[in-house]
Amino acid sequence: MKYPDFAYVRPASLGEALDCLQKYGDSAIPLAGGQSLLATLAMRLSSPEILVDITGLTELSEIAREGDTIRIGALVKHVQLLQSPIVRGATPLFTAALPHVAHVAIRNRGTFGGSLAFADPAAELPACLVALGGTLVLGSSAGRREIGAEDFFTGLLETDLRPGELILEARVPAQAPGSRWNFSELSRRHGDFPLAGLAAVMSPMSEARLVYLGCADRPKLATATAGMLRGASYPLKDVPGLAAALAEDLDPADTPGCSAETRLQLAGTLTYRVLNDLQEIPAR
Ligand SMILES: Cc1cc2nc3c(=O)[nH]c(=O)nc-3n(C[C@H](O)[C@H](O)[C@H](O)COP(=O)(O)OP(=O)(O)OC[C@H]3O[C@@H](n4cnc5c(N)ncnc54)[C@H](O)[C@@H]3O)c2cc1C
Repeated sequence: MKYPDFAYVRPASLGEALDCLQKYGDSAIPLAGGQSLLATLAMRLSSPEILVDITGLTELSEIAREGDTIRIGALVKHVQLLQSPIVRGATPLFTAALPHVAHVAIRNRGTFGGSLAFADPAAELPACLVALGGTLVLGSSAGRREIGAEDFFTGLLETDLRPGELILEARVPAQAPGSRWNFSELSRRHGDFPLAGLAAVMSPMSEARLVYLGCADRPKLATATAGMLRGASYPLKDVPGLAAALAEDLDPADTPGCSAETRLQLAGTLTYRVLNDLQEIPAR
């Protein structure tokens, strides 16, 4: 389909981009890698009057380590994240999940911030960010604010982003010593969004963070499931109460091609697979 008519601006600086977004409010929308936005324009699911192309804002393209915090700029491309030695060393959950994100061509253009802003509940990077306890830094012409990833995703393709705001970066704690992590997903074909997935981080001093993707309207931190698995012995096998805890956490809906019941079964399979395999991964 043809795109609707829109105007296009390419600000030269972050300040200019934020002023532009503030000036045009709801009628303007940021353009990053375009991998999701251009499809929604072509399908007429979105019809902004102005595209604000932020791809020239090099200050949002950095990955850096500051003490125990990893800063990942919104314009970091999926491929950069996948290849980053900083990310592999400090937050390897992302490195494990990234090969599942679409295909090489899309990973070459799609950005970290674009994936977070689009907030597809089946997307890998939002789930990893929640599992790792990350924080988003949002900027507008009025200033900056921070919000925990768990609170940022508010519903199906919905976030706490306000008109005029850009995601600037995410701050992610480096995985604590002694912690283990694992990621897996189930999809019909490699590169498709998954029917269900699980990003898991287990630290010795805190509750496991199990975040399911594709199972609810947002990346879902499964607190009931983590609670009922507290003190469990491994390998897990036929855990009584697991299905009920997953149903309480995820409460999935029937969707075309996948019933809620099937999705819960997939989430159960992933729980056994991810947590049992995780025991074999050397602790950091
Ligand atoms: C065929 C196909 C398969 C895919 N499969 C997967 C998959 O398996 N897993 C997966 O996770 N993703 C998948 N994707 C999506 C891909 O990861 C996109 O790159 C990502 O969702 C959007 O990133 P982008 O940089 O292209 O953002 P864009 O398409 O440019 O923007 C997406 C949305 O985010 C907003 N936005 C972008 N950057 C910012 C910012 N910094 N601040 C505020 N708002 C911003 C835009 O205004 C727009 O609303 C797939 C895409 C395609 C086309």
